[in-house]
Amino acid sequence: MSAKNLDNLGHNAKFLYGLILPCQNYVLTPMMVNKAYRYELDPNNRQRSSFHRHAGVARFVYNWGLDQRIQLFKDNHGKDRFTDFMKQHKLLNSLKKTQFPWMYECSKCVPQEVLKDLHRAFQNFYRGRKIGKRIGFPRFKKKGGRDSFRLHGTIRFEDRKIQLPRIGTVRIKEKREKYHKGRILSATVRRRADRWFVSVTVEEEIPDPTPLSRQAVGVDLGVKALATLSDGTIIANPRNLGRKLRKLRYLHKSMSRKKKGSKNYEKAKLGLAKMYLRVFNIRQDTLHKLTTYLAKSHSRAVIEDLCVSGMMKNRKLARAIMDSGFYEFRRQLEYKCQWYGTQLMVAPRTFPSSKLCSHCGHKKTEFSLSEREYECEQCGLRIDRDLNAALNLVAASWSETENACGEEVRLLTDSMSLEKAASVKQEPNIIHDCNV
Ligand SMILES: [Zn+2]
Repeated sequence: MSAKNLDNLGHNAKFLYGLILPCQNYVLTPMMVNKAYRYELDPNNRQRSSFHRHAGVARFVYNWGLDQRIQLFKDNHGKDRFTDFMKQHKLLNSLKKTQFPWMYECSKCVPQEVLKDLHRAFQNFYRGRKIGKRIGFPRFKKKGGRDSFRLHGTIRFEDRKIQLPRIGTVRIKEKREKYHKGRILSATVRRRADRWFVSVTVEEEIPDPTPLSRQAVGVDLGVKALATLSDGTIIANPRNLGRKLRKLRYLHKSMSRKKKGSKNYEKAKLGLAKMYLRVFNIRQDTLHKLTTYLAKSHSRAVIEDLCVSGMMKNRKLARAIMDSGFYEFRRQLEYKCQWYGTQLMVAPRTFPSSKLCSHCGHKKTEFSLSEREYECEQCGLRIDRDLNAALNLVAASWSETENACGEEVRLLTDSMSLEKAASVKQEPNIIHDCNV
């Protein structure tokens, strides 16, 4: 039985399927994942100023820690990297009483978590240097930028309210009481424009991730349409930034005309931040719907490994690419595929998905970006460019698995060996709230 015939088998065929395709990495036992749930808060004035104070402490400690690390690095001629964040935390605690007594007003976990984050930022920086990736040096945080702080300890939900350590019981704007189950690990309070949100990280057991449907789908991401699927579905791009660009430009202009630091300037700034938040929310919504659909209703998703930073250099495309959030798409798809037991395959950058003919396998030598339709010189096939690419991705994934199982070997080219991104990533996934 070929793998394609399994498409018609139902839900009960999972073990059979597992036996025939041992190369697939299905997780058949329930697994623990960290999930984050975000709620909008409805704080009163006292709580609002407490939030501001906590965010201020977080920012101060981060900058203090960064400055200290830089000084230490200079004094030791670049030898000591100050690798232990606990050391730094102890030092801060010893200074707290004499130098920063105002910190006692806030929860003690805020500085601790911030120094942990700083430590991670340095680790990433050093790791990036090792593997030759450009990861920036940690930067100082500015006031009024991204206010946030993380808490742990007694975090409890009680009918449409959340109890946070030191801050107390804060009302939640959400209509439903709570969506999550499982043990709460931490809570991050964040400001976006003039609204406050809390993301609660929960350790949750997710059920046996057996895909319901046995279909493979190829996804071609584009600029014109957000995505074209191999079954012919076209997901239109919401074009948020495009539609809202004039409004944004107007708001930017109106802010720049105001005197910095004045009341009107602050008002204009808030208006702009609100507009960006709106754009961000619409984009997230579209991406979440798309990635959930792909992971939930298919047994395999095949995508291209897009070189986003390379594409960004093309300035005409840059804004459209930024807008559709390719990075975010890949990130969401990776963790959702793991949740729903979908196999995610990533075609390498060298795979000529748009140049191949999906019908006869003929490869074009030249195929410019401006051509919207693929026309095969060999078999005369005329097909939409993106659909052709999506079909090629699925076809390549079949040939890949069949080769691995020793069935129906159909080699297309050598460059088509696909890496299995889903099987590499084993660590629990956390939904990070993406920054604007
Ligand atoms: Zn052809």
